[in-house]
Order: sequence, then structure tokens, then C-alpha cells
Amino acid sequence: METFTQQPFTVLVDIDAPLAMWEEGLVEFTRREFPNVFTADAGTRTSWDLTQGLTDEERHAVLTVMEMPGFYRDLQPVPGAREALYEMLEAGLEVFLCSTPSLGNPTCASDKFAWLDEHFGREITKRTILTQDKTLVTGDLLIDDKPEITGAHTPAWTHILYGQAYNIGLPGPRIDDWSEWSAVVGEHAGVGAAA
Ligand SMILES: [Mg+2]
Repeated sequence: METFTQQPFTVLVDIDAPLAMWEEGLVEFTRREFPNVFTADAGTRTSWDLTQGLTDEERHAVLTVMEMPGFYRDLQPVPGAREALYEMLEAGLEVFLCSTPSLGNPTCASDKFAWLDEHFGREITKRTILTQDKTLVTGDLLIDDKPEITGAHTPAWTHILYGQAYNIGLPGPRIDDWSEWSAVVGEHAGVGAAA
């Protein structure tokens, strides 16, 4: 009895950085809320830890903004991201978003859903998994800007780095721009699986 068919190829996509211009939003908000505190341009930090090298005052400013209600609701979407996700779906890939909401920001999780509805549409919002441990989520690929993703399990997915200043030069497959998605995903999904 043939009960099990081949699983579809599943691409998990992180939200902050690959889909939402998180760092750009953080810099803009911080400069607005703390105009007298120095805030470096987005795309210039070389460490994943965004507080590294900051003064106490700079650290306070950035951490305060990260926890401001509504911060996650006002981010700009990354150009080409929406089109790439729908192209993946049309190519027959399973696409799910996989994001770790900030527990310190009281509206982060709900803002993410509202933000996705507005910028990506309900079809994508319905495909959103919020988790504190991405290693527990099953998939073939995880596109994520975080240099190292660990958790309770050995992940089933292959990590594709979404290119940012703080992960330049790290080994492994990467996507630096959404226009590259089909070449990179196709290489892992096999011939004919991607557009
Ligand atoms: Mg991210």
C-alpha cells in the first residue's frame, strides 16, 4: 500500500533581515527617539551582537528601541522578497516563514503577523511559524542571516545564509539578493524543482 508519497521540498525563511529591513528600521527609530546619541549606519556592524563596542548610552538607546511597542509593525519590506516567496510557491516548493519573536517587545509577535498580512499577503501569513528554537522545525533549507543557529535538536535543514555585513566571509551556501533564489534553492532542491 502506497501511503507515503515523497515530501515536497520545504524552504524555511527567516523574517528579520531576509524579509524585513530590521537593522535599517532600528537605526531610523533610534535616531528619531535618541537624536543626541550616535547610531552607526545600517550595514556597517561586523558582529552579530549589535551591542558590541557600544557605549552604555548607545546600548541603552538601541535596546530601548528594540522593545518599543510597534517597532516591528513599521519595518520596510526587503525589495524582491515578496516576489521571491510567491515564485517559490508557484515553482511547487513548500514555503514557511520561521522567526523567533522578541520576548522583550510586548507587541513583536502580533506585529509580525499584521506586518506580513500588509506586505506579503494572507497566503504568506498563514505559513508563519514563530518559535524560540528553529532546530525543532522541519524543512530542507532555512534561509537566515544569523551566523550560527543552534537549539535542542540537530537541524533537519541546511542553513543558507542570507547575506548581511556581519556574515560576510562565513563558509556555506548563501543568498545575497532575492534575485538569486532560484539558482541557490534549485541547487539543493534538485533539477526541475525550482523555477
Ligand atoms: Mg534574521
